[in-house]
Amino acid sequence: MTTLQKRTEAVTVIGAGPYGLSVAAHLRDVPTVVLGEPMESWRAMPSRMYLKSVWSASSLADPDGTFSLDRFSSERGGATRDAIPLDFFIDYAEWFRRQAVPDVTHAKVTQLCHRDGEFRLLLSDGREMQADRVVVAIGVRQFPYVPDFARDLPASLASHTGDHVSLSDFRGSSVAIVGAGQSALETAAILHDEGARVEIISRKPVVWIKRILYGRYGPVSRLLYPPTDVGPPGLNWLCAAPLLMSRLPVGVRRKIELRSIRPAGAQWLRPRVDGRIPITEGAEVIEASPAGDGLSLRLSDGTSRQVDHLMLGTGYRPDVRKISFLDSALLPELAESDGFPVLNQWFESSVPGLHFVGGLAGRTFGPICRFVAGARVAAQQVSRRVAELN
Ligand SMILES: Cc1cc2nc3c(=O)[nH]c(=O)nc-3n(C[C@H](O)[C@H](O)[C@H](O)COP(=O)(O)OP(=O)(O)OC[C@H]3O[C@@H](n4cnc5c(N)ncnc54)[C@H](O)[C@@H]3O)c2cc1C
Repeated sequence: MTTLQKRTEAVTVIGAGPYGLSVAAHLRDVPTVVLGEPMESWRAMPSRMYLKSVWSASSLADPDGTFSLDRFSSERGGATRDAIPLDFFIDYAEWFRRQAVPDVTHAKVTQLCHRDGEFRLLLSDGREMQADRVVVAIGVRQFPYVPDFARDLPASLASHTGDHVSLSDFRGSSVAIVGAGQSALETAAILHDEGARVEIISRKPVVWIKRILYGRYGPVSRLLYPPTDVGPPGLNWLCAAPLLMSRLPVGVRRKIELRSIRPAGAQWLRPRVDGRIPITEGAEVIEASPAGDGLSLRLSDGTSRQVDHLMLGTGYRPDVRKISFLDSALLPELAESDGFPVLNQWFESSVPGLHFVGGLAGRTFGPICRFVAGARVAAQQVSRRVAELN
């Protein structure tokens, strides 16, 4: 491996999605390197998608709130929208990046080592870097959950919803979708629009987020729904306070997490699914085997299906042990629970100077870490820690 350039930076941020960009924006007074492809995960989603999260929960975070979605929209002469189109959000993030984080190094980290209190990073372009502090902001896309019954199937027969930028190849095909979260439901709607014959198979009844009072009654609505809008009424204010959440007993946190991220679809999506796409509820796929050019599915309700393709809307399970660039000597130093790094209030792991933000911080700070809305607290905490030490 050639060492093209060697440099020491105070902080290196791995990832240039909403979390990496927000952390870097908060570190504007500190020498910081940001690595990754800006908004890579979002650019890999089907372009006809809309955000599930509401307007008030979808701004990236800079210290003064200067580069908000509101400001971007008003500069473009637009207004608040009920459902934010994916391409609008990507344009907004690019506008944020240009102003708040102009320098991003478009390279992947292939190895991260920790020796004598310093981090060494190898990059996909052959470069080597050193850093005093590293913030891992790689999102969850590299941790798709694939159930056992689908693990050995070829990609032509079974895929995860996260595998597709376009779904037009499925025109005329029969596709069974497993799951009832936003990804599964929206993928079903797009596939239907693309001319596929779709069926949704869900263990539990499909739930549509109601938010009956959302935005209707001014101050009353604001009491019921924090701007972050993660979790059901009653738990949503707790989810909006991740530092408080991190102090709760782990069992309580887990229960809140499970209740807050249960699969559900946004209300605006409902007319595109209800009455248009068959839904089998209360059943799960227990076996999937190749048959002819397609797949034969056996369901827990005793029925079976013959389909061309199985689409897994089964979500993501972040696991620090599966991060391919973490050096094997670093892993034993890293305390984890169930695949999540154990973090202190600064989002810092048991390896001093190594932080995790976004989905990987979810077990400590709760479900907000799975959403853009959690980027502000994470960025503030990391930057406070850096300021404290500088
Ligand atoms: C279909 C779908 C819809 C969603 N809708 C919403 C929504 O409406 N609202 C919401 O708040 N959230 C939504 N989410 C969740 C959303 O993905 C997260 O909120 C958000 O992307 C988290 O940001 P992040 O910065 O942690 O990760 P990501 O956005 O995934 O960014 C990860 C970054 O890490 C970089 N990276 C990865 N590996 C490396 C490496 N080895 N070296 C260098 N860089 C690396 C990538 O290039 C990228 O820049 C959705 C997710 C999906 C899958």
